[in-house]
Amino acid sequence: MITASPQTAKVILDNWFRVEERVREAARAAGRNPGEIQIIGVSKYVDIELTEQLFQAGCSVLGENRPQNLWNKAEWFLQRNTESAALPHWHLIGHLQRNKVKRVLPHVSMLHSLDSIRLAETIEGACQELGRRLPVLIEVNVTQDSTKTGLMIDDAWRLAESVAASPGLELRGLMAMASLNASFAEIRREFSEVRQLRDRLQAELGPGHCLDQLSMGMSGDFVEAIAEGATLVRIGTSLWEGIL
Ligand SMILES: *Cc1c(COP(=O)(O)O)cnc(C)c1O
Repeated sequence: MITASPQTAKVILDNWFRVEERVREAARAAGRNPGEIQIIGVSKYVDIELTEQLFQAGCSVLGENRPQNLWNKAEWFLQRNTESAALPHWHLIGHLQRNKVKRVLPHVSMLHSLDSIRLAETIEGACQELGRRLPVLIEVNVTQDSTKTGLMIDDAWRLAESVAASPGLELRGLMAMASLNASFAEIRREFSEVRQLRDRLQAELGPGHCLDQLSMGMSGDFVEAIAEGATLVRIGTSLWEGIL
């Protein structure tokens, strides 16, 4: 990795514009409104200075997969800024250990990777202490590979019912990753399965819940994800071309 400089700012700005345009193009190709799709800029590959350059380029929602890195970066921004308007929103996209909930929770605006009832209970308790609700997505595994992260469908269903009954948690939808090295047709089938599961859950839970978010699609497969209804695309590598 190289260190931040005016040159890296330029590269990152170009990358950001290119990714935004590709996402808009994928939305139009799918007959969708580009405004429905939020890009999460995944900053886990780079240090805080390069992360800030992405934020300055216009990427206001940043994703980290490790809680410690999320809170370190979020605290760095807090120390530099007094105006909350100039702060990024942080999404936690990787596994959250229960002993890290308290420390990370104040900085997280959405958790993509809820994966157990015990974790949900810990977050519920911490949310009550803070007097807030946390928007969450349940991470599901729709690949054939049971060693991958995310819950199999039956477990995801049970967790959804439990989360729906937790006042501190706001269930907004599902997150998933497609199989590595699968064909684009197979990837689309997997993303389609996630959307269908979300639709069934929404029908089961009823109008008191709003499962309007589907977090799927990364640098290599966001076009397929958008075609299948993704509203949150988690893009890392493509934003750091020329940097990593
Ligand atoms: C790293 C990561 C991404 C970004 O993937 P790229 O292929 O670099 O775009 C997306 N989602 C999760 C959960 C990740 O850990």
